[in-house]
Amino acid sequence: MTYVFSPPAIASVAVAGSDARFPVRRIFCVGRNYVDHVREMGNDPKSEPPIFFTKPADAVVESGAAIAYAANTSNLHFEVELVLAIGKGGADIAEADAASHIWGYAVGVDLTRRDRQAEAKKVGAPWDVAKAFDQSAPIGAIAPAGAALTKARIHLDVNGVTKQDSDIAEMIWSVPEVVAHLSRSWALQPGDLVFTGTPSGVGPLAIGDQVQCAVEGLPPLSFSIVAR
Ligand code: MN
Repeated sequence: MTYVFSPPAIASVAVAGSDARFPVRRIFCVGRNYVDHVREMGNDPKSEPPIFFTKPADAVVESGAAIAYAANTSNLHFEVELVLAIGKGGADIAEADAASHIWGYAVGVDLTRRDRQAEAKKVGAPWDVAKAFDQSAPIGAIAPAGAALTKARIHLDVNGVTKQDSDIAEMIWSVPEVVAHLSRSWALQPGDLVFTGTPSGVGPLAIGDQVQCAVEGLPPLSFSIVAR
């Protein structure tokens, strides 16, 4: 096969305790998955099914990176999230089978242009410009899945001050429910990542900020924000 120019490298994420890397195929994200965050955004948690959106695979950024403050926003927000790494594909996956499709877990941040998202919501426009930009998916190393993850502290600090602090047990849709719902609309494939939504406490980042976050039991994620 000859291409008209060199194809891009495959986006990938570090794996805890291994030199092998997890190749990223797609990034799916869940909107509105913690009751307190749904309320802080002015929505009723019980009234709506899960919302899915996507980011490009090459939006991933390694832990330890200096991330440029995104273009086209003056309100860049952090959203710490549990990330599922899919290792076995499938459509219409039953909740009871969901765990067998999960290769591992990581902590990630769904960086968001909140000003652009607010404008999109107002007119019912897509969220791509708010969510799917370059370097919008910092993610820690993936820990291979062990026992099902049902309860774990999830938190995010900016410059040593805790901004988000919750537990994944507070998710409106649990990990198996997220996999089941998502796989009704997409045939999941090995390499897919799923950002599972953020708890309350989201807020803005500024140039010079140091971000640290973790899900209990998983490798932590840190990054800084620098000028473009
Ligand atoms: Mn999010």
